[in-house]
Amino acid sequence: MRSLEGQLHRCAINTATLGHREPLAKTLDRIARAGFGGVAPWRREVEAIGAAAAARHLRALGLTVTGYCRSAYLATCDEAERRANMSANIKALDDAAELGAQCFVLVVGGAHGVKGGLVGARSQVHDGVAELYLEARKRGVPLAIEPLHPTYASDRSVVNTIRQALALCESVAPGDNAMLGLAIDVYHCWWDPDLASSIALAGQAGRILGYHVCDWLADTQDRLMDRGMMGDGVVDLPGFRHLIELAGYRGMVEVEIFSEQRWWKVAPDEVLSVCADRLQSAC
Ligand code: ZN
Repeated sequence: MRSLEGQLHRCAINTATLGHREPLAKTLDRIARAGFGGVAPWRREVEAIGAAAAARHLRALGLTVTGYCRSAYLATCDEAERRANMSANIKALDDAAELGAQCFVLVVGGAHGVKGGLVGARSQVHDGVAELYLEARKRGVPLAIEPLHPTYASDRSVVNTIRQALALCESVAPGDNAMLGLAIDVYHCWWDPDLASSIALAGQAGRILGYHVCDWLADTQDRLMDRGMMGDGVVDLPGFRHLIELAGYRGMVEVEIFSEQRWWKVAPDEVLSVCADRLQSAC
């Protein structure tokens, strides 16, 4: 496996890492100036300036858009919410196409409040992905289902393992790995006893569309907002990337750190500088 030393052009920054503290244009300038090759912006940032303006800025800086974050939930409490979320997702696909995003990231929603509980939510997610897949195909924007850690099954995602996401892909779009795949995030998947075989299967299917890194802090204080910087936690990051690359993934390594109490209080340029160091020394 190649080291990431001197390879920042193969690395991307998810803008959440900087805490959404500044307008997108400023954030993009910082990321490009720090030498990264890619970025994953969020809908609210892009919508604030419009996708056309964001796309122009991205092109001028030469940044690759590794992913567009993220879908509204596909598992919902009622039909009105389902419709509203589906139209928000279709609008986001239009924007993702304009940005030239390599994928639109799907966070599918949890079981809480959904008719039929966990089983009902998973069924809604299946139908929602199938509906959105048809829209994504029309626009040429691949969908990347991101399995989330099982602690999120209640409130954020009922898709919790790589294997489960892969089965969903095969059920909705058998054989179409160009338009439906996975975003694999170490934070959500590192604990999985089937990690190696699951990544290998996802690779064989050609469905790994994104790879997100941070770290899981041993004494994490908050399962959403206390992600660690690479190298500060318990995840074997070089081992994880080895599996991902062995499986055929050739895309960028994207840093995605939600850290309300720590990194979001540090100056953005310093956060980027630490990310650059750790990508090259700990990933
Ligand atoms: Zn992620």
